Amino acid sequence: MKRYLTLLLVILLTAAFCSAAFANAPAQSAQNAPSTQTAQDFSSKIAGMNKISNIRIGHTGDNIRIVVDGSQKIAYRSFSLSNPDRFAVDIQNAWLAQSAPRQIPIQGSKFVQQVRISQFDAKTVRIVVDATVFSDQVNIFALPDPHRLVMDFGNVNKPPANIQKELERVQQTIEAEKKSAEQAKKEPAKQSSNPFEIDFEIIDDLPHGTIIYPPDTKEKDKPKKHAKPGLRGKTIVVDAGHGGSDCGAVGQNGLLEKDVTLKVALRLEKYLTEAGVKVLMTRKKDADVAYAYATTNEELQARVDVGNKNNADLFLSIHIDSFVNPEANGTSVYIYDDTYLGKCLHDELIDRLGRKDRGVKFANFYVLRNTAMPASLVELMFISNEEEEAILREEDTIERAARALYEGLRTYFL
Ligand SMILES: [Zn+2]
Repeated sequence: MKRYLTLLLVILLTAAFCSAAFANAPAQSAQNAPSTQTAQDFSSKIAGMNKISNIRIGHTGDNIRIVVDGSQKIAYRSFSLSNPDRFAVDIQNAWLAQSAPRQIPIQGSKFVQQVRISQFDAKTVRIVVDATVFSDQVNIFALPDPHRLVMDFGNVNKPPANIQKELERVQQTIEAEKKSAEQAKKEPAKQSSNPFEIDFEIIDDLPHGTIIYPPDTKEKDKPKKHAKPGLRGKTIVVDAGHGGSDCGAVGQNGLLEKDVTLKVALRLEKYLTEAGVKVLMTRKKDADVAYAYATTNEELQARVDVGNKNNADLFLSIHIDSFVNPEANGTSVYIYDDTYLGKCLHDELIDRLGRKDRGVKFANFYVLRNTAMPASLVELMFISNEEEEAILREEDTIERAARALYEGLRTYFL
């Protein structure tokens, strides 16, 4: 009970802080949501909504993969909660079928203890994962055909050298799952003792904060020969993370990620403009880029569009990190395939911000994956760390962060 009161309190605080997605959603439990409706009411209520029919768990050693089956494309938001540490994913416009489990205890993993699933409100299915992980030990992504949400906990980083392999692996997994599902239909007696169990493997465990130089992308480590070197005349998208209805992460003392990212972005815009760059800002004020309360993908696509539709030379997304463990701190730079860009930004940020070096890392982030030009996402510090939250409030930090990003980009285009 105490846990639910804590959860309710966190939700109310979140709503008060952000007036975000859950602000007008009454906290309801799965038990009293659809069951009080008449059958007719119920089927009209769920018309057009995503049916969440099953939740399956796969293990590889300590690593846990959670697969959520939906009837249509899965739109979701994920966030972390503390005390106890847990990850929550809200699947939007969705309803939880009777067939789906409500609680799955997990044994033998140091990362995940339990998964709980509920109808959070009339249009939201919430999945809460009791997990002890760092932010780079979680990877959440949706897959089509059949529609699924995959949540990996543990050693989930994958270097770009393996993108092709990974895609093949996903395809193989899909086919293997299809086959085993068909097999299971034919031979119901042969099911494993855990009906939710599937097999999967996680490739490569990258140590924390390692600069990645994948062997078959060596070319991308080196400075490129730009047709016209220098910043002048380049088109660069500066993406201030979050904004408007999405406040991003919130510090323990109330600092909002969306405010810090905007300040740094505006300062960077100034430096780049002075250097003759055509700067495209995804936002220049506290606003959503797509529209208020858009799904995460719609919002991110609107940002990607700024780069793709304008044939930009580079896309830079600015964020502040956050994690359930308040001790987590430091600077991370994420890339999808341009290691050299990551290195340029990383070296300046580490130098000028002087925070813990968490390295350049590969990430399968939406804005990195879907932009047609070289792209990087930087996490300047941790807003969830009290010391770094205080540092992020300082004008001098905004200046140093913007200067570091500017110098990093300057080096990249040399
Ligand atoms: Zn962010």
